[in-house]
Amino acid sequence: MIAKNREIPQRILMNEVLLERLPPIHTLWEIIKTDLAKRQAGYRGELQLDYHLKFISQDKNMMILHDLRLEIDGRYFQIDSLVLTPYVVILLEVKHIAGIYTLDSRFDQAIRKFEGKEEAFSHPVTQVERQKKQLLRWLTKMKIPSIPITTLVVMTNRSTILNTFSPLEKYNNVIRVENVEERILSLLTSYRKEHLSFKQVRKVSALLVRKHEPLIVLPVEIYGISREEIKTGVRCPECRHLPMLRKYGHWQCPKCGGKSKDAHESALLDYSLLLGHKITNRQVRKFLHLESRKTALKILQSMNLPSTGTTNNITYSITHHTDPQNAHQSNSSNAKPIC
Ligand SMILES: [Zn+2]
Repeated sequence: MIAKNREIPQRILMNEVLLERLPPIHTLWEIIKTDLAKRQAGYRGELQLDYHLKFISQDKNMMILHDLRLEIDGRYFQIDSLVLTPYVVILLEVKHIAGIYTLDSRFDQAIRKFEGKEEAFSHPVTQVERQKKQLLRWLTKMKIPSIPITTLVVMTNRSTILNTFSPLEKYNNVIRVENVEERILSLLTSYRKEHLSFKQVRKVSALLVRKHEPLIVLPVEIYGISREEIKTGVRCPECRHLPMLRKYGHWQCPKCGGKSKDAHESALLDYSLLLGHKITNRQVRKFLHLESRKTALKILQSMNLPSTGTTNNITYSITHHTDPQNAHQSNSSNAKPIC
């Protein structure tokens, strides 16, 4: 069963919002767009894997966790997917690469040939083996009884042509996504000794979920984009125009005439992705183009955001879902009406 769903990477959400809130003439606009396209392709690959794990996802005897970021000795490591069973832990690394992908163990690299260009990457097997060592250290540190860990590199792009530099090179753990379930089931037949009870498996799974620390980055850290460069205002949900105007308790688009009661919610989510998840009433007014402190307060209260501080110095925390099933749900269902 699925113990942790895959979430839309924060970098994807950040880049998407950034493209809408930077002028297209910005020097970094094309770079951000290219980075976004690469990350979206990688994420699509991961979703492909999830699709092909559908059958075993129903199996109550294994726990599947997607998209983990864990800390060991002050450093973080990431795992695309993990299958926990009482017999073995299977660590999966997803590669979504188009073109001819050649594995070269002699130089410990992978070379991708695509549209006439050659590009070198880290060897995926070395990469996944490194993750295995990190996970092993993590499990030991958490005092989890010893259990074998095995790895799979899953190629999710249908068009990838897999190749090796020498015919002698064999990579049994590099597989195509269509074969992933079959391979997992076959691995389970070769690990017969029970190392953990299923109760312990559930506990390890819960611990992994608890210890997962999503990577949160801001444009200033990645691209050096300052607060002043980011366009403020509420975006029109119909035509994406920026900014909408606040009139008689709702938002009105000066371009298409569209109206919205809660377009400020997605604007505040943009704020959290671009400028941080803490916001004050003053910052809300500046970002949403509001003059009234009272209106800003009503908006914040209507969203039921957790807050800290005293009356004149309250900071609110903007939370958002990156779970694909919840990502585009607005908070309006539990919102109080705004005047
Ligand atoms: Zn509009």
